[in-house]
Amino acid sequence: MRRPFLLLDIDGVLIPFPAADGAAPATHVRHDVVPTGRSAEGSVTVWLNPDHGPLLMDVFRTGLVSPVWCTSWCRDATTLIGPLLGLPTLPYVDLPRPQITTSHPDGYLWKRDHVETWLGDAPVAWIDDDFTNIDHAWAAERTARGSATLLVQPDPHVGLRGEHLACVRAWAAQLITTPTGGPTATSKVQAA
Ligand SMILES: [Mg+2]
Repeated sequence: MRRPFLLLDIDGVLIPFPAADGAAPATHVRHDVVPTGRSAEGSVTVWLNPDHGPLLMDVFRTGLVSPVWCTSWCRDATTLIGPLLGLPTLPYVDLPRPQITTSHPDGYLWKRDHVETWLGDAPVAWIDDDFTNIDHAWAAERTARGSATLLVQPDPHVGLRGEHLACVRAWAAQLITTPTGGPTATSKVQAA
């Protein structure tokens, strides 16, 4: 079994959505970053949890997965966001910037067609806050075809938690011992 990719989203995963009153979680620290293509006056405020860096590094160091950014931040994920968490330079899926008003213009996550092409038949654990039931069905079908696929879906108002990464680790470790088709116990992990 090839080492699976670990696809990482940022918005709603590392950067939580604000609460109704605009407040960010007390666990997160404010940063102002200037995305590619903007002037210094066009900085964007992001809130990041400093604990996420070590949590992710613990997973990376196991060597069980190959981490890759999969976010509309594209290259800025690795040049702006990753360093704020102490993460090494990671590759990223070079997603387009479609003019869409919903994350699910066809009923499923807009990234998925691009990701599917990028993956080929590679196994993958994918952490994103924005999957629909159609995406989860896609993951189950993909797993059934022999390309182990785990979707992990944090609550966007909370973001990534240790249990999500523990799930990825357990899944990837199990893949090594069940090389055909991978674990069948779950392709869907959600947390409130
Ligand atoms: Mg997201």
